Amino acid sequence: MKMRNGIEKESIKNYKTNGFSCPLHYLQFISFLIYGLNAAIFFCINIISCYQGYFFDYINISIYSVLFLLLVILVLIVSIINPIDPIVSIQKFSNQLPNQPFIQNQKYFCSICNCKVQESTRHCGECNKCIELYDHHCTWINNCIGKSNYRYFLSLIFVVLCILLFQFGHNIYSLIIISKGMARENFIYYYGCDIQILSFILLGIVIVDNLIFGFFITELIIIHLWLVSKNLTSYEYSLILKGEAIYTDKGIVK
Ligand SMILES: [Zn+2]
Ligand SMILES: [Zn+2]
Repeated sequence: MKMRNGIEKESIKNYKTNGFSCPLHYLQFISFLIYGLNAAIFFCINIISCYQGYFFDYINISIYSVLFLLLVILVLIVSIINPIDPIVSIQKFSNQLPNQPFIQNQKYFCSICNCKVQESTRHCGECNKCIELYDHHCTWINNCIGKSNYRYFLSLIFVVLCILLFQFGHNIYSLIIISKGMARENFIYYYGCDIQILSFILLGIVIVDNLIFGFFITELIIIHLWLVSKNLTSYEYSLILKGEAIYTDKGIVK
């Protein structure tokens, strides 16, 4: 790829546009697998075991479907958004002249991108680009979280927690229904046999999954809400913990 000045730029050869740019991260596949299996178990075990054709059943199905749809939409949004510093984007990829005052007035410079950057910008080695208001690189999404996708990221982890809580509650309810033998008729009607033992095993796995992920997601939400209240990014907080309150990453120099 040629720079505006015609110089071949090594650093932007491996520039990652968004979370779907290659190489993909294995955690992306694991997260898709976990939520795909959770959804499959919810509809095939939870719903089938309790389904009586009542209005309450449709409320349950609707709530879970809406939450799962929101999850998919937010994962797509957070993954697709390119959180690059727009100042860098203009210098590298735009036809606008890079000597405009709002670019030249920037005091910071990324030696890897060879561009002027904003103060809050940090170069991400994984994405190989400068991120505006860098928060962190999320391996589950395979994308950086910065100014342009941070709100969607917060919404995403909140929706994940809602799904985990809703599913956990429904799992307990389903276990009670199945243990009382009240799901036998439904299982035989839909599957041709009573799958009580298999249901217990699958629901047990999902309950453990809900508890583990629920704990970590709750902790993550509390930390991010606290950071938002302090007007800090995760990266700024990590700098403060190290005793550095300014941007001193080797890729960004004054
Ligand atoms: Zn950079
Ligand atoms: Zn990144």
